[in-house]
Amino acid sequence: MHPDLATLEEKIVAMDVWHVALPVNSRRDHGIGTVADAIEIVVVRLTGESGQTGFGEASPWSVFTGTPEASFAALDRYLRPHVVGRKLGDFEATMALARKAVVHCTEAKAALEAAWLDLAGKILAKPVWALLGAQCRSTIPLSVSLANLDFDQDKELVQRLIDDQVGFVKLKTGFKDHAFDMMRLEYLQTQCPSLTVRVDYNQGLTVEQALKDVPEIDQLAPSFIEQPVAHYEYEAMAQLRSLTQAPLLADESVFGPQDMRRAIREQICDGVSVKIMKSAGMVQGMEVARLAAEAGLPAYGGDMFESGLAHLAGVHMIACAPNISLGCEFYQATYYLNQDLMDAPFPIEAGQVVVPDCPGLGMNVDMQVLEQHAVVASKKG
Ligand SMILES: [Mg+2]
Repeated sequence: MHPDLATLEEKIVAMDVWHVALPVNSRRDHGIGTVADAIEIVVVRLTGESGQTGFGEASPWSVFTGTPEASFAALDRYLRPHVVGRKLGDFEATMALARKAVVHCTEAKAALEAAWLDLAGKILAKPVWALLGAQCRSTIPLSVSLANLDFDQDKELVQRLIDDQVGFVKLKTGFKDHAFDMMRLEYLQTQCPSLTVRVDYNQGLTVEQALKDVPEIDQLAPSFIEQPVAHYEYEAMAQLRSLTQAPLLADESVFGPQDMRRAIREQICDGVSVKIMKSAGMVQGMEVARLAAEAGLPAYGGDMFESGLAHLAGVHMIACAPNISLGCEFYQATYYLNQDLMDAPFPIEAGQVVVPDCPGLGMNVDMQVLEQHAVVASKKG
């Protein structure tokens, strides 16, 4: 961490928490579940003595990391006592306490970390990436996920992506049948030569199905294949890895550094999807990426169902994590939400996410949008 962070004497005087439902433009199917109508996130705002504020987002998914209710309770009840009244300079000690105060709830810890560093960055006039480490990139290639049961609608989206110079798509598979997956991948590989196509099963297959279907998908040469089987099927992941030419990525099998160490030891993957919502924040996400680098495995910047606020935290992490070299999927603020939470468009130019250079996370929450879509709020000192 930047040494100036530890010198901050300003105290946090208020912590506000909102459970928010943001409407989306279509239903999306993934191997382990479906999202329709709205994504549910939890937003936290920290206020310092100077009146400056910092925002962070927890983006849980009930079938993957946890529930919005758990994220809300973790922040509002279990983390609040360790936050209000603390000096901003106590960042590392507070995050250590947060990890002990409540088990799991990685998304809530990621939200707290983002809000803390957003506020500290604003006070120190430094972008969050400058607090985390040394900047290694100023743009990140964008990937957009295709997950519509109606492939004609995804074809329209693909045309829009090509027009927008997006170079990567990730085809969500394993939620209907193998023929549907083969048909869509073959179409993309033959009809859209400007796109690099990856495949993500989101744990959608049984081990038996995966051993049969994944080698066939591999014949169509996707640039990687992500998490075909359940997160706990480490042995099957290792076996699948030996059956495919395409790199096999671990996502749900690897949350934090401990999982990464085991994944390396058991040789279950050729790469890993790093997400701040799994690793409990940017600092631990960078540690996952560093461990992967040591083992010669590249990393990908994954996300959950997020607004631009959580995307931004991921962007600052990737800006100083050299090994997260496979791009990112921070597309939802631009291509999925009816309206983002932020007061300006998420920064994408010519298919690249542009790393903000201004203090904190670099964008502000639109309070009107937040209040309009809030389901529950808790505002306290
Ligand atoms: Mg995934």
